[in-house]
Amino acid sequence: MANVPHGKPVAPPTGGAWPDRIDDGLARLLVDSHMIAFHERQPGAAMRRYQLGCIERLLHHARKHSHWWRERLSAMESGASIRLADLPLLGRAEFRASLEATGALPVPPSHGRVTSASTSGSSGIPLTFHSTGLVGRLNQAQYWQDRIRQGVDSSRTIARFSVHLANHEGEHVARRPNPVLGVGTELQRRPQQFTIEQHAAWLSEVAPGYIISHPTVLTGVMDVFEEGKLAPPKPAALLTYAESLPPDFRARARKIFGAKTLDRYSSQEVGPIAFQCPSSDQHYHVANSHVLVEVLDQNGKPLAPGELGRVYVTSLHNYAGPILRYELGDLAALLPRCPCGHAQPALTRILGRERFLVRLPSGGRAYVNFGARHWLKIAPVSECRLVQTQPLRIEAEYVMDRAMTPAEEQALVALLRHEISPEIDYVVQRLDAIAWGPTYKRQDVVSLV
Ligand SMILES: [Zn+2]
Repeated sequence: MANVPHGKPVAPPTGGAWPDRIDDGLARLLVDSHMIAFHERQPGAAMRRYQLGCIERLLHHARKHSHWWRERLSAMESGASIRLADLPLLGRAEFRASLEATGALPVPPSHGRVTSASTSGSSGIPLTFHSTGLVGRLNQAQYWQDRIRQGVDSSRTIARFSVHLANHEGEHVARRPNPVLGVGTELQRRPQQFTIEQHAAWLSEVAPGYIISHPTVLTGVMDVFEEGKLAPPKPAALLTYAESLPPDFRARARKIFGAKTLDRYSSQEVGPIAFQCPSSDQHYHVANSHVLVEVLDQNGKPLAPGELGRVYVTSLHNYAGPILRYELGDLAALLPRCPCGHAQPALTRILGRERFLVRLPSGGRAYVNFGARHWLKIAPVSECRLVQTQPLRIEAEYVMDRAMTPAEEQALVALLRHEISPEIDYVVQRLDAIAWGPTYKRQDVVSLV
């Protein structure tokens, strides 16, 4: 799992042959998904006890290895049983400060390798966070268990758009089937490498059983199919993640592909947070064996069930870069149980990250994956945003305690030309503050054309 940003859903491990050669990774995956399913059947109170036990061990670890965390938790009695409300809330800028102050904490050998990745999430504040091989493994098991929960037939061909894939030759990279898990061929494709129109033609050609993608790519693809020049494929379902679904997304997907949408709510920093209920499009079961989710008002106080508020998340197993009561920058409402009968917390009315497609000089549209990891490679910006203001012009706005040097500006423009298109003009602008607008949520790529 090394160097895999853990917000990225990862396909199950391959290798091994049943019954005489079972790969360790596969065996762990099946035990992990068994435990996730076991946790899901517990009453809410039992899961809360499990979560608080995880947090106590995590606090002990953070105190032991970090001065910053000892200071921060000084008001709490060490070793006493914790009350969640006593733990200070962690804002985005503060989280970044904690990471800069402590670096990655050492972890027990059983947690595997420490990895780092960058994100700007829903807040427009880029940061580099730390995680472990164990968390990556558990993320993978959560997505695997979701396929089982939703009845996904993994033996069918899956088309996966993956923004983290390196540039590839040809139309896609074919991942080998895994007969032990009953997993068929997966065709992986880098969304930034092609236009939306080319993606639609590819999907029409390969006719996958399932499509895994950010919603923004599929929204563009649906526009193309609606023009009627290409025959849409007929997958069983669209598996979406990483961004909010536009309000009309599910209805359009049903009309164009004849497919249902199975959405997952996740963030780069913590991985999966909640999975769409198998019997309701409106509710998402919280991944309670992985994260503890709270929905609070602007003063940090819990809201009544069903009231819209700010999402805070605690990652239960990440010992390398503790994420405790961390403000994601998303809005949602929390219910103590799901109307389907599931006896644990469920999220509804999730308003997370939204993205835009940018229009290219050729007339085609493209998905832009230009985020924290690109910006932070250039300079330690504290906020950033891309705005396409005219067909051939993108403004790269940033906030930093100093101006970029000419060399940094040149490097930024070179990276933008490489990642988006060399035919667009890029204007770099340092601002005192980015005009995010009056809404709580922030969009770090905006197209006004
Ligand atoms: Zn449910």
